[in-house]
Amino acid sequence: MPESLLASKSLLAGGALAVLWLLEGLVPMFEGRRERLRHDGANLAIGIVNAALAALLFAGATLIVAEWARAHSFGILRWLGLTGAWSLAASFLLFDLWQYLWHRLNHQVPFLWRFHAVHHADRELSASSGLRFHTGEIVLSSVARLAVLPLIGMTVPQLVVYEAVLLPVILFHHSNLRIRESIDRQLRRLIVTPWMHWVHHSDFRPETDSNFSSVFSFWDRIFGSFRLVADPRAINLGLGEMERREWATLQGMATMPFRKTAAGRRSEAEERSGRRTGHNLPDHSAGVQEGEERATAPARPRSRE
Ligand SMILES: [Zn+2]
Repeated sequence: MPESLLASKSLLAGGALAVLWLLEGLVPMFEGRRERLRHDGANLAIGIVNAALAALLFAGATLIVAEWARAHSFGILRWLGLTGAWSLAASFLLFDLWQYLWHRLNHQVPFLWRFHAVHHADRELSASSGLRFHTGEIVLSSVARLAVLPLIGMTVPQLVVYEAVLLPVILFHHSNLRIRESIDRQLRRLIVTPWMHWVHHSDFRPETDSNFSSVFSFWDRIFGSFRLVADPRAINLGLGEMERREWATLQGMATMPFRKTAAGRRSEAEERSGRRTGHNLPDHSAGVQEGEERATAPARPRSRE
C-alpha cells in the first residue's frame, strides 16, 4: 500500500490510542495498573514493527491479487453483480465474516494458537493490547488474506475502508475503560465492545473460546459463540499457564510460540475435553447470555489484580 495510506492508518490508530490511553488513566475498569507506560510501550512497539513488516512484505502482493481478480472478473462481489455502495457494504460484511472465521480457527488449530496465544497472554488488557500480535500471526493472516481478497473480489480501497473502521473498534474493545453496562449494551447490538471482549480474554477456556467477532458483534450471535459475564472485574485476564513475567518482555513474546513447554499450546487432552487445566474456577462460573446479565449469574472468583 502506498506510504500515504500507511501514514493515515498510523495516524488514525495513534489518535484513537492516545484518546483511549488518557481515558484508561481516568476511568479504568481493572484498577491497580502500575506499569502502564512499560506495558503499553511494548505493545505499541510490536504494533509498529508488525505494521511496517506487513506493508513491506504484503502491500505489493495485495495489489497484485486484487488487480488479477479485477482483470478476470473474479470474486463473489462480481459474480453477484454488485457495484458501488452495495459492493462496498457486501465487501465489509464478507471480510468481517472472514475475520470471525479466521479468529475462531486461531483458537482451534494448535499451530495457529501458538502464535495467537501471545495476544492472549497479556494479563493487563488495554487498548494497546489490540496491537499486540506475534509477527508470525500477522504473516499467517496476511498470507491467508491473499487468497480471501480475490475470492471475495474485494478491492484495495474497500480493504482500506474496512481497516479504517476495524482499527478504532479493535482498540476500543480491548481498552481498559470503565464503560457503563447500559451504554455497552446499546453499542454491542452492533459492534464488539469491551464487555464482550474482556470475556474473550478470560483465562477460563470456555470464555476464551467465545466472542470471536472483530467489528460486528452479530457473528457471535449467529454462530452461537456469544457470551457475557455478570461482573467483568471477576474475570482473570490472560492465560493461566503464562504468568511468568519474562513472557511479558519483547524477547519473551517473540520466542513464546517456539517454546516446547510453554507456548500456550493446549495439551491434547485439553483439546479433546475442551476443559482448561491448571486452574480451579468452578464449573458453575459459566457465562450468561444477552438479556440475562442482571439475572442470577453465580459469583465468580475475584480477579488476581
Ligand atoms: Zn483470540
